[in-house]
This record gives sequence, structure tokens and C-alpha cells, in this order.
Amino acid sequence: MKLPRIKILALGGTIATRPDASGAMQMGLGAEDLVAAVPALATLAAIDAETVSRVGSHSLGFDQIHALAARIAGLDADGVIVTQGTDTLEETAFLLDLLLDRDIPVIVTAAMRNPALTSPDGPGNLLAAVRVACDPWVRAHARALGVMAVMLDEVYAAADVLKVHPTRFNAFAAPQTGPLAALVEDRVVPLSLPVRDAVTHARARIGDVAGAREQPVALLWMGLDEPGFLLQAMLDHRDKLGYRGVVLGAMGGGHVPERIAPLVTQLACMLPTIVSPRAGGGPMLRQTYGGPSSEIALRKAGLIWGGRVHPLKARVLLETCLRAGLGRDTIAEVFDPFG
Ligand code: GLU
Repeated sequence: MKLPRIKILALGGTIATRPDASGAMQMGLGAEDLVAAVPALATLAAIDAETVSRVGSHSLGFDQIHALAARIAGLDADGVIVTQGTDTLEETAFLLDLLLDRDIPVIVTAAMRNPALTSPDGPGNLLAAVRVACDPWVRAHARALGVMAVMLDEVYAAADVLKVHPTRFNAFAAPQTGPLAALVEDRVVPLSLPVRDAVTHARARIGDVAGAREQPVALLWMGLDEPGFLLQAMLDHRDKLGYRGVVLGAMGGGHVPERIAPLVTQLACMLPTIVSPRAGGGPMLRQTYGGPSSEIALRKAGLIWGGRVHPLKARVLLETCLRAGLGRDTIAEVFDPFG
């Protein structure tokens, strides 16, 4: 029987670290090293591994992920695994999901525990990712599943996966939807298919953004009694400090402190400004509360409603919309189906 051809593209991250002379972990391992550590891979797939970069995911750039997406789009393979750091996996996986339109499994995986520790999770996660990529149910539903993340024997949709702990072994979850599948023994057990209408709609509006330039988006988290100095600085600066859009990590169902309501409404007149749930997800309110910084007032003032998308993912989506040259109203249409 011919084994599926799986391409592994390695970017860096804890999964690819090794200790330096002082014992500190440094990026160093390449794709071949990752594959060599998991001999069982050869029983599942015909592996072709390539080192794309040795960059920690905390330092990856949007342009690098766009280049990676272009590379994946042109690959002749039955499945693709991207290995990277965990720090931005929830963002890079979502960006790949917005950019790619492939009918083969595309999976991002990583490690929380480095190879020098007693029980590193990198080899197991890589094996699980390849197992998922080769699984008949996953292959049959590849387009419906979109880009996936595989961590600790669970499979998550790119739009929903979050890093929910900085150091714990089980650091990944999809709190709003749960996993798409689970791995047990040598099996992939399907659990659900993601509802992808909003992502599909967004992708259609975004189209081809190849060659487009970076569009800096500010992410401003709203905390108790936020005084709004950064908002004021953006308003005062001729070029809005260089930002082309703003995501507000808003309180509750879509609120900001009343003292800064005039600032955010002024900003929304100048830059696409997304209101996104600082709770990390879940649809926000649209028509419950009154008052100057309520959802009713903010929506009326032109703030764009981010729906159930986590603020980090909203920032990725807004950056991509801006690259596509979409204006405020189309951006609002892109976000609207997210709830
Ligand atoms: N900060 C590094 C990165 O994201 C290491 C963290 C990790 O991979 O877990 O690449």
C-alpha cells in the first residue's frame, strides 16, 4: 500500500530547541532532527521534511506566515505539518486558515516541554499530527476541517484553538467549541466538524493578498478604569502612530469604560476599530445595554463588532482585511458572521 506523502515544514519553537553550553535552550534543531527523533513516522507516511526557519514563534512576522502559506499552496503532497513555537500558534494557524484553500490536511503542531526535559511532548505531538494527516476521515473532510492544530492528542480548529496556559503540558484548548477529534491508541476519533461559514465568507472577501504590505494593527486591552492615554496619543498623531487599525479587547458583552467612550468613537471614525471580547471569545451583545459606552452606543458610533473571535485572532483577521485593501464597511461585513 502506498503511504500518504506528508510534508513537514519546521519553523522553530521549543520543539526545535537544544541546550547551549550554559544549559539555556536555543533554537537549533531542524526538520530532519525532528523526524529522526520519531522513527514510527516512517510506518505511517512517506515523510519529506524541510527546515523553513529557526525562529521562535514569538518573533515570527505576518510576512513569514504569508510566505509559508504560498509555499503550502504550491506543494504536491497529501498533507502538510507545520512545526513551530507555541506562543503564537493560535494566531499563525488562524492566519494560515484565512489564506489557504487546500483539500489536504494542513496541521500546525508544537511542544510545551523541550527536548532536554524528561518527558518532551514534541515527538508525540509530531507523531499525532502525522497520524491525523493520514487518517481517512480527516483526509475526506480536509476542506471542511480547515487548518487544524494538534496538541496533546487533541485536534482543534484554527479559528478556535487558544493557548490557555503559559507553561502547562496541556496548554491548548478550544474553550468555545471543544476539539474536532481525539487520538487514542493508534486511532483518530472524530468528534465534530467546525462551523466555517464565517471563515469561508471572510476568505472570499479577502481574496488574494500576495505581495500586499504589512498593516499594523494595535491591540488595546480594556482594563478597570483605563485612562485612554494611548488612544489619545493615536488620535493626536497625524499618522495614528503608524497603525492602520485597532482591536479593543472589550469588557463583558462589548463595553469600554465610560471615560474613554469619546476617544474610541473618535478613533472609529478614523481607523477600522474592532470591539472584541476580552473574555476570550463568545458572541457579544448587540442590543441590551444603553449608556454612552454600551454596545448599543458603540455600534451606533461605528465601532465594528468582532463577534465571538478572540481579540488576538481579531487582530489577525483585521490585518488580513487591511492587506486586502478592504474598507470599513466591508471589514464590518467580514466580522459580522462571527456573531
Ligand atoms: N517562545 C518560543 C516560541 O514560541 C518557545 C515557546 C514554545 O515553543 O512553546 O517559539
